[in-house]
Amino acid sequence: MKFLSERPNTLLFIPDNCPHGEQRTTHLCIAAHQDDVEIMAYAPIAECYDCGQKHFMAVTLTDGGGSPRTGRFACCTDEEMIRLRMREQQKAAELGRYCALAMMGHTSNAVKGGDPAVTEELAELLLQTRPQFLYTHNLADKHDTHVATALRTVEALRLIQSDYRPERVYMMEVWRGLDWLCEEDKALFDTSPRPQLAADLLDVFESQIEGGKSYRSAALGRRIANATFFESHRVDGGSSLSYGLDATDFVYSPQTPQEFIGQCIARFREDVLSRLERLSR
Ligand SMILES: [Zn+2]
Repeated sequence: MKFLSERPNTLLFIPDNCPHGEQRTTHLCIAAHQDDVEIMAYAPIAECYDCGQKHFMAVTLTDGGGSPRTGRFACCTDEEMIRLRMREQQKAAELGRYCALAMMGHTSNAVKGGDPAVTEELAELLLQTRPQFLYTHNLADKHDTHVATALRTVEALRLIQSDYRPERVYMMEVWRGLDWLCEEDKALFDTSPRPQLAADLLDVFESQIEGGKSYRSAALGRRIANATFFESHRVDGGSSLSYGLDATDFVYSPQTPQEFIGQCIARFREDVLSRLERLSR
């Protein structure tokens, strides 16, 4: 991927050194930052982990330079922070047996500002990797860079010809869970396999944990809560669950992002209000 060598802080990393290893990709996650992939897409990571036919690739759009830092990382410069976060993400790729990792090294402002280069590079990456399943942030996330990443991904998907598009596109949970979605809008992802791997993948991001934020407990805890509170009378299924929103039909339609997520919110609103209506005296 040519563009990856043309800018600083970019990297295409193939953990097993397979030539053109990224072309094996079947499951692709496009995330804003280092560690977002491991929070939102553990289910496909685990699905591909030990399967010769399925291959997981991670993409991070931003360089991680502006990330918060405390403790022993408090004195790191932006440049040092970028190097550190790149190393952590590479470690996760090795640990999770990803077929490839692309770090695209954009600034958060370029992603949020809609720099056309971001969208064009994503479209190029999608054409070169041709994933069957795609995962990105959800449009109701509360982190601007996450939502902007989802928007740039949708733009890129709409640029490429239908023959080359992924079969399914899912929007996943990071800085806002999707528990609020109506049950019929939820796509369920079983995150219960290999619990040690799930924890280890979150533990590699030391620079993020140092500030006292326990992303490991938070991410693992949310998955357990999702499974427990999914349906009051359901007892079967996984003990750990991630929620996603199937955005395939939206992505390949002329619908605006506001219309798409607005309809999900309207169904949620209707669900809450109609229950109150039914139970009020
Ligand atoms: Zn993030």
